[in-house]
Amino acid sequence: MSSNKKMSLTLKVLLGMVFGIIVGLIFNVMNNYASSGFLNAININAVNLFINDYIINGLFHVVGSMFVNALKMLVVPLVFFSLICGVCGIGDVKMLGRVGGKSFVLYMMTTAVAIATAILVAVTFGIGKGITIPTDANFDAKVSPPLTQVLIDIIPKNIIHAMANGDMLPIIFFSILVGISMLMVGKKASGFVEGAEVANEIMMKMVTIVMSVAPYAVFALIAKAVATLGLGLLVSLAGYVAVLVGALMIHLFITLMIVLKVFSGLSPLMFLKKMRNVQVFAFSTSSSNATIPVTMRSVTQRLGVNNSVASFTVPFGATINMDGTAIMQGVATVFIANIYQVELGMSGYVTVILMSVLASVGTAGVPGVGLIMLSMVFNQVGLPVEGIALILGVDRLMDMIRTAVNVSGDAVVSSIVAKSEGKLDVAIYNDPEAGLMNTDDVLHFDNTTMSNS
Ligand code: ASP
Repeated sequence: MSSNKKMSLTLKVLLGMVFGIIVGLIFNVMNNYASSGFLNAININAVNLFINDYIINGLFHVVGSMFVNALKMLVVPLVFFSLICGVCGIGDVKMLGRVGGKSFVLYMMTTAVAIATAILVAVTFGIGKGITIPTDANFDAKVSPPLTQVLIDIIPKNIIHAMANGDMLPIIFFSILVGISMLMVGKKASGFVEGAEVANEIMMKMVTIVMSVAPYAVFALIAKAVATLGLGLLVSLAGYVAVLVGALMIHLFITLMIVLKVFSGLSPLMFLKKMRNVQVFAFSTSSSNATIPVTMRSVTQRLGVNNSVASFTVPFGATINMDGTAIMQGVATVFIANIYQVELGMSGYVTVILMSVLASVGTAGVPGVGLIMLSMVFNQVGLPVEGIALILGVDRLMDMIRTAVNVSGDAVVSSIVAKSEGKLDVAIYNDPEAGLMNTDDVLHFDNTTMSNS
């Protein structure tokens, strides 16, 4: 069915997001009125209880969580099989090294630029100056592993354990090793290689099936998030929120697009158009990791990046590349330093940049991890960790926005690396219809081959 006649999935997902925001806002306002006792005359409390218990924390919660589970279910087998295919498809270990090296440097570089931009914008606006410290600030900091441990843990003691935990770096390591060994075994392993290719195709089909219900799931996830968020806090923290969102948008629409154009010559407009879907998924799940299946599909089928590159750069990026999170750390550091009247100075800011870049390597792309990284940064520069409590209320919403920026960075670097290796199909990249998905196209059974065999 032509995409002109049917509404594309991207459009449906966007509509799901818009309706989710509207319905969430209505429920949020109703909740606020109910708690203020304003509309007691029409017994709004009973209605509210029903909405909270059965709709927001019932229906929306169940539908949204089932969807996120389905995405997470796909991540490990998808990464495993596509990386094996990727390595076997490259067939050249040297190229693998180059792809790894280039993507690592680009990921670190874009993260460093992101946080430097954030600090610059936040310092320029002087956010946090003149705000007094509330006495009840309290934040329970969790610690993230030291870099030495991160390096050691790249090699899994037990791959089943790593897979069960969804630890991306050891899974990447193991899958590459399997792929390389298959190449070394040669002809005898060809059945296995073919099997992995079929498995990869099946996994991609599963991604398509899960994505076909996305419009409803995105609606449920966003409606629940907006309904339960402390939207009132957005107003009291308006300065912080505005500067943070501004810096995120500068990075997404200006810095990353300049990097894409300069390093690959590809069209930023086409990139942004094709990445909308992935950004909405990241926004509604707040998790780069859970978004891996969707990023992988879009990067390969919509942007034309060969699987041999994307199978590595996408899961690698979801783990080590967090531009949006780094931006939050930069803005939050300046904000809280100003509130506590701590003078960080040039060396303090350089430490913040280094720490954030390092912290992003060691922490996985899952919801809320940015705050753990932030407490590491605060400890290093001597800022009070309990200051993080001040931004906690709006962090859930900020997490959604910054995760969308994180996954965009992963896709930019994947495109640049693929283009530089001659592994990007420019015709697919420039074709607006390439890889477009209509929900009606999903249920297609090719049972002729099955019954004939
Ligand atoms: N939720 C983010 C991600 O998955 C990480 C964070 O900023 O907390 O990329």
